[in-house]
Amino acid sequence: MYWEQEVEKIGQAKLKKMQLAALQKTIRRAQKSFYYEKLFKDNKLNAKIVKSVSDIQKFPFTIKDDLREHWPYGFVAVPKEKLVRMHSSSGTTGRATVVFHTLRDIAVWTNLLARCMYMVGMRQRDVFQNMMTYGLFTGGLGFHYGAEKIGALIIPAGAGNSKRQIQLMRDFETTVVHVIPSYALHLSTVFAELKLDPRRDTKVRIAFLGAEPHTEKMRKKIEEIYGYKAFNSYGLSEMNGPGVAFECPEQNGMHIWEDSFLVEIVDPKTLQPVADGEEGELVLTSLQREGMPLIRYRTKDLTRIIPGRCPCGRTHRRIERIKGRTDDMLILKGVNIYPMQVEKKLMEIEGVGTNFLIILEREGFNDDMMVKVEVDKKYFSGDMKQLEGLRRKIVEELKSEILITPKVNLVEPDSIPKGEGKAVRVVDNRKD
Ligand code: ADP
Ligand code: ZN
Repeated sequence: MYWEQEVEKIGQAKLKKMQLAALQKTIRRAQKSFYYEKLFKDNKLNAKIVKSVSDIQKFPFTIKDDLREHWPYGFVAVPKEKLVRMHSSSGTTGRATVVFHTLRDIAVWTNLLARCMYMVGMRQRDVFQNMMTYGLFTGGLGFHYGAEKIGALIIPAGAGNSKRQIQLMRDFETTVVHVIPSYALHLSTVFAELKLDPRRDTKVRIAFLGAEPHTEKMRKKIEEIYGYKAFNSYGLSEMNGPGVAFECPEQNGMHIWEDSFLVEIVDPKTLQPVADGEEGELVLTSLQREGMPLIRYRTKDLTRIIPGRCPCGRTHRRIERIKGRTDDMLILKGVNIYPMQVEKKLMEIEGVGTNFLIILEREGFNDDMMVKVEVDKKYFSGDMKQLEGLRRKIVEELKSEILITPKVNLVEPDSIPKGEGKAVRVVDNRKD
C-alpha cells in the first residue's frame, strides 16, 4: 500500500503535461505580485509564451537578494487576507527571508511531507519525536503537519534540551525522529554521559536527517551509533521547507517531487543548464504555490541529477546529496575547498569524535587553515604519543583531500560549542 502511488509513479508524458499546466498557472499567479508584475512587464513576459516546460528558460532567475529587497510583502501574489501562515529561512547566510502560505499551500506542503515519511515506512502506529525548532523555522511545523496527516502520535519536542529529549524518547518509546545530523551526533555524547546506549535503550527505527549538508560517512556513523535507518531530507524555506526532495528506502539519492517543483541544474558561473548527471546549482520553480510563487529560484545548493531509474519504481528524478552551498566554498592559497570535503575525510578516521570546526586565519600575507577536531576521550588519558600519532594521520588524510596542509588541533569531546540549530563549520578570522 502506498501513500500516493499514482503521483509517485507518474509516467513521463503525464508528468510533463501536468507540469506545463501548473507552470502556466504559476506564471499567471506570480504576475499578481508586486515584484513579478514589474519584472514581467519590463521583459515582456507572460504565461502565453510558455508552450513547453523548457520555456521556463525565457524567464530571469530569482535570487535571495530579490526576496530581501522586496521585504516584506513584495512577492505575495494573493490578497493578504488569503494568507494563513508565514515562515522564514534560518538566516544562515545573511538576513532571513520570509515566505507566505495560503491554506491550500499548507495542505499541499503537508501532503508532500506525508508522502516523504510514508515512503520510508512511517505509519499511524509510530511515535514521532520532532527535534526541530518550532516557530518560524520550517522544520518544526512542516514535519508536524505531515506526521499528523499520517496519523502518528507526535511528540513536538522542539530543539535542544538533550536530557529531556532522551527521556521523552525512552518514556514514550519513540520510533521515529527528525533531527539535524550534527545534533544527532551531539546527542549521542549525552547518551554516553548518561551511560545509555541508544541501540539498546531506545526503540527508534527511523530518522529523518535534514536542514544541513552532511556526508554519507556522517549518515553511516549516525546509523551505527543509533541502530536506526537515517534518511536524507532536503528542503528550503523558499520552496516551503522540508519535503522538496527525500530519500526513498534505496538510500541512493533523493527523489525531488517534480509535481510540485520544476527542476533545473545550472552552472553557477555561466548560469547555463548543465548536461544531465553533471554537477551544478539547483534552480527551482514552485508549481503549486498560490501565496508566494517563485520562479527560477537559485538555491545556491550544489548537486546533480542521478541518471537512470530508481529501483523503487518512483519516477521523480533523484538528486545527489547536497555537496554544499556555492557560498560555502573557501578559497585558500588558490585552492577551492568545501567544508564537506573535510567532514568526509574526518568521518573515515578511527578515533575522530562528533564535531569539528574549520578556522581560517591570516598572518601577514599568509592564509592558514586550522581544523579543530574532537577525538575520543581515551586519547587524552595516557600516552601523548598516541594523540600525536592521530594528529599526524589527520593532517595527512586532510592534505590528500584538500591539497593543502592544514594545522590540526585535537580537542576533547564536547569542547567545540554546539548550538541546537545548524552546525557552524567555518569561522573566518581573515577579515581584519
Ligand atoms: P537558510 O538558507 O538561511 O539556512 P533554510 O532554513 O531555508 O534557511 O535552509 C535551507 C538550506 O539548508 C538549503 O538551501 C540547504 O543549503 C540546507 N539544507 C537543507 N536540507 C539539507 C540537506 N538534507 N542536505 C544539505 N543541505 C540541506
Ligand atoms: Zn527510489
